[in-house]
Amino acid sequence: MAVRSELPGPALPVVGAALPASVKAGATHVRSALWLARRRGRPDENGLRILLYHRVSDDEDLLAVTPRRFRRQMELIAAEGYDVVSLEMAANLLDAGVTPQRTVVLNFDDGYLDVAEHALPVLEDLGFPATVFLPTGAIDGTSKLSWYRTQPPLLGWDEIGELDRRGTLRFEAHTVTHPNLLALGEDAARAEIAGSKIALEERLGRPVDAFCYPAGLFGRRDRGFVADAGFRIAVSCEPGVNRPGADLLALRRRQIDARDAMLDFRAKLGGGHDSPLPLRNVYRRMRFGERQPDASGRRLAA
Ligand SMILES: [Zn+2]
Repeated sequence: MAVRSELPGPALPVVGAALPASVKAGATHVRSALWLARRRGRPDENGLRILLYHRVSDDEDLLAVTPRRFRRQMELIAAEGYDVVSLEMAANLLDAGVTPQRTVVLNFDDGYLDVAEHALPVLEDLGFPATVFLPTGAIDGTSKLSWYRTQPPLLGWDEIGELDRRGTLRFEAHTVTHPNLLALGEDAARAEIAGSKIALEERLGRPVDAFCYPAGLFGRRDRGFVADAGFRIAVSCEPGVNRPGADLLALRRRQIDARDAMLDFRAKLGGGHDSPLPLRNVYRRMRFGERQPDASGRRLAA
């Protein structure tokens, strides 16, 4: 069984999860209840929200949503009449100046095997596309996801090629070794970003247009390397809604956590969790030396 420590090393997979899990879950439930009281459950339908998952499994892992819960979440999206579109389609809409209405994108980070086992059947039943971000070295087996003592199984290249052609899951880049980009020198950061694009394009035989910053940690420099490498889209771990004018190389995503109750999921889907928990910013500044918002109001790491 994969058990994730509360405070993993520098290649922290998801920043939000670094707060003590019980504190974070408690704060999330309170916020969801306030959202319900304020909005009476009416979602904010304007704009695009990207929901971020890692694993879909019964393993005891803060990054794992159970298969049963995942199915209920997807069925709620369907019942509420949301459009689930691919990341590319979403970027096209934003690019064209269209504000997506009741629209959601689904992301899975790191390429865990259980996404194919437990999420894919649900997605195929409902006709929902999703993007899976792969650290190519971890898939090769030449690097490990550092926060796991025992790493859960990842997809293999043969399965990835087959699934990519099948269409429901589309695979995109997530560096080579899943490092904290902020801790790397220029050459290393550039190699991680561009290297994953080249490796993945070779494997898939098609252009790879989207990139995911490991743990959402990046600075202006890294965003520049992502642009230089030829990516059109990149996703962060900053919560929030995406509307026309959003930086396509820093799209916002909201993580769905293992401890989210259905009300939390509804609130996240409906915009009740579009800003980060206050504690998370304090924690990030202490841990990563993150700066205050820059002049444009966009939060960028150092
Ligand atoms: Zn990741």
